[in-house]
Amino acid sequence: MMMTGDQYRASLRDGRALFIEGERVEDPATHPLLKTAVDAAAAVYDRFYSPDPEAYSPIYIIPHNDEEQKERVEKLKGGTDMSAGTSSVSVLALATAAPDLAKAKPEYRQRIYDFIDYVRKNDLRCAEAVTDAKGNRKLRPLQQDDPDMYVHVVDRNADGVFITGCKMHISAAPIEHELVVFPTKAMRPGEEAYAISCSVPANAPGVSMINTTYAPHGEDLRHFPVSARINSPEAFIVFDRVFVPNERIFLDGETEHAATLAYALGLWERAGGGVHAREGEDRLVGLAALAAEAAGIADEPHIHDKLSTLMIFATMCRAGHEAAWSNATTNADGNLMPSTLFISATKYYHAQFHDQMVDILHDIAGALVVNAPTLADYDNPELRGVLDELFAAPGFSAEERLRLYHYIRDTTADAYGGWGSVTGKQAGGGQYAQRLVTMRNYDMERAKDLARKAVRIGNHAPAQEPVATA
Ligand SMILES: Cc1cc2nc3c(=O)[nH]c(=O)nc-3n(C[C@H](O)[C@H](O)[C@H](O)COP(=O)(O)OP(=O)(O)OC[C@H]3O[C@@H](n4cnc5c(N)ncnc54)[C@H](O)[C@@H]3O)c2cc1C
Repeated sequence: MMMTGDQYRASLRDGRALFIEGERVEDPATHPLLKTAVDAAAAVYDRFYSPDPEAYSPIYIIPHNDEEQKERVEKLKGGTDMSAGTSSVSVLALATAAPDLAKAKPEYRQRIYDFIDYVRKNDLRCAEAVTDAKGNRKLRPLQQDDPDMYVHVVDRNADGVFITGCKMHISAAPIEHELVVFPTKAMRPGEEAYAISCSVPANAPGVSMINTTYAPHGEDLRHFPVSARINSPEAFIVFDRVFVPNERIFLDGETEHAATLAYALGLWERAGGGVHAREGEDRLVGLAALAAEAAGIADEPHIHDKLSTLMIFATMCRAGHEAAWSNATTNADGNLMPSTLFISATKYYHAQFHDQMVDILHDIAGALVVNAPTLADYDNPELRGVLDELFAAPGFSAEERLRLYHYIRDTTADAYGGWGSVTGKQAGGGQYAQRLVTMRNYDMERAKDLARKAVRIGNHAPAQEPVATA
């Protein structure tokens, strides 16, 4: 059965072991630093709630073709709930990997579809628990001083396995129901214990979560127009001999398949991030244009240069993601997936240049980004007159202009802006990972063949030289 927002809030009071800023949290729905994220998730529950026992949230649509994919995106767009995104990504990644995992053991595929059915029917939210602690990055899991640097199987019996380790930075985990564990990378023979994928309830004995958040801490929320409304925690999830029953194990020891799951998760995580990136970059262009107008410099040639740079960047981000979907393929189970090549190359491009685009925005907007008087100053009758004089501009009241600078600061030059910058580079894998995936998926043979033909190397007939056109 689907849950209402209030049923979801109640479902989080299940004894889970949550900590934030040193304190144990009994009820995330009422905690000041977690409540906004819970409310955003509850709003999605209310939006899609149906008493029909067969109904399920569009979060759990597994698209098989372009129409279903568009329907899924259309239904989910506009939400501010991180848990909807991580739940979608978790099940889409499992569904993408399912036919390959079936080659290791047919029951893995069945367990995956049973699990998807279970979370759909019970309207549960899922965390993507991939990133391990990793210790010394250059050492393999078994070479680490502490064997728990990667989540691994420490014991087993006829009914299942026991896992230990820590998954770090896991978005929205404290406000979700299932922690879906994926291997963080490819594993090698000998590392069977580390080739583990499974799902664990958030309140399972032995699970505890240490949470962080960029949610504003009690400031005047008008100065945090985005982060006060849209924020979500990340968790360090500690697994201490957590029991996982066989029916929730999707990979157990087949090292050659660890990468299948890691890549599938990375693909969907980057594809999901792209949806926000596209809107976000066009909004950034708009913020720069408004800041230029407010300062009366919109017609300056150097501002045109800077705005056109922003526009080209935003357009290329959009183009990359659209190309990823127009080059989508289906796996052996008929599940649609975007082009890995376009997704990774675009993720790289976006992360590489995003901060440069923010620099341009700051250059245009000036020091008011960080020094604009507060809206409480504007409320003070003693100050309002002078602030009206200083800040009102054609097309903007003084208050609107102050709000513009606080919006730019909140999203690009304060806690949330910093979080966004690091997240853009790291979530879904760092830049080196995007390079590796791009190299793996780029058609180098075709590229070399084109070059061979052009240069007439080997048996190639004299080339038709490409004709330059204006
Ligand atoms: C806000 C946010 C949300 C996130 N949400 C999630 C989530 O929901 N689920 C999840 O699983 N993860 C999540 N992540 C984690 C994210 O996937 C990782 O940050 C990312 O994969 C990079 O890992 P890392 O941070 O450990 O950096 P590292 O991998 O340590 O990278 C740091 C540097 O070390 C280099 N390096 C790493 N290994 C080697 C090596 N062997 N040899 C040479 N150089 C190396 C890298 O190239 C990089 O330059 C999130 C991250 C952020 C910031």
